[in-house]
Amino acid sequence: MTHPGQLLKQAGLYAGKELGQNFLSNPGTARMIVEKTGISEDTHVLEIGPGLGALTLPMAKKALHVTAVEKDGRLIPILMEEIAGQGIKNIDIIHGDVLKIHIKDILKDKKLVVIGNLPYNISSQILIKLVEERKYIEKAFLMFQTELATRILALPGGREYSRLSAVSQYAARISFVAQIGPASFFPSPDVNSTILQFQFFQPEDNDESLEKLLFDVIKAAFSKRRKSLKNSMTGGELGYQKDFVLHALALAGIEPQRRAETLSVEEFNSLVRAIRETSG
Ligand code: SAM
Repeated sequence: MTHPGQLLKQAGLYAGKELGQNFLSNPGTARMIVEKTGISEDTHVLEIGPGLGALTLPMAKKALHVTAVEKDGRLIPILMEEIAGQGIKNIDIIHGDVLKIHIKDILKDKKLVVIGNLPYNISSQILIKLVEERKYIEKAFLMFQTELATRILALPGGREYSRLSAVSQYAARISFVAQIGPASFFPSPDVNSTILQFQFFQPEDNDESLEKLLFDVIKAAFSKRRKSLKNSMTGGELGYQKDFVLHALALAGIEPQRRAETLSVEEFNSLVRAIRETSG
């Protein structure tokens, strides 16, 4: 693996902060990450943000196919040259924004394993997108800033428990994979990084509108997280009247004084079913 600093220098480029460009520069770390994903010759990988190929190239040597989506067009010729130099033929590069692609369009014959050292400025949005399109994804290995990974894993009742914790824990069994220090990247970030694995659950029933309602309720409840549920769910984007909210909370067996940050995913689920029942 050629050091990313050298590749950028040769091309007269620089790493862009606005695209979250902290490239893996330690080949041992890249190999360790690829090992941990357990990908094999029948895996179709979707890589988010291949950059200069630190993960792309070792993954392609193990997987059936890698489709990589990269927003920064300046990097693509460098990456293509690295791929050609190693005689690798099973990588497709899509020049685009991962937030705008439809994962279904990438799917070939089987579900994807999504892997990415994510641009940290949009990693929450990427995770929400993957949750929404999880029908096409078997699992994901994603690298986050450690603070965000801690929030994703947080349980109800603590300060770290957030909209992202509830939505991602509803959609996946999440486990810790590895912690990576700043020295493994160029340029080195000021923060530690954590890789999490998401084993996605398929939607329980095919009622997509119920899931959308669940995500809307979680969003509204956490947007005013210091308020009691009876207040955070009244008005606003949900547009519910207070009596309606009180009735739904009673039906779900949830005290109206409680706050979003104390509700488990199961309780959010009960609440949404009660809202459905209350609205007839
Ligand atoms: N995978 C490479 C590595 O580990 O060295 C690069 C990781 S770097 C943290 C994030 C990468 O995501 C960069 O290559 C950046 O250009 C790309 N990126 C940023 N925003 C993106 C977006 N919206 N869609 C696709 N790629 C994006």
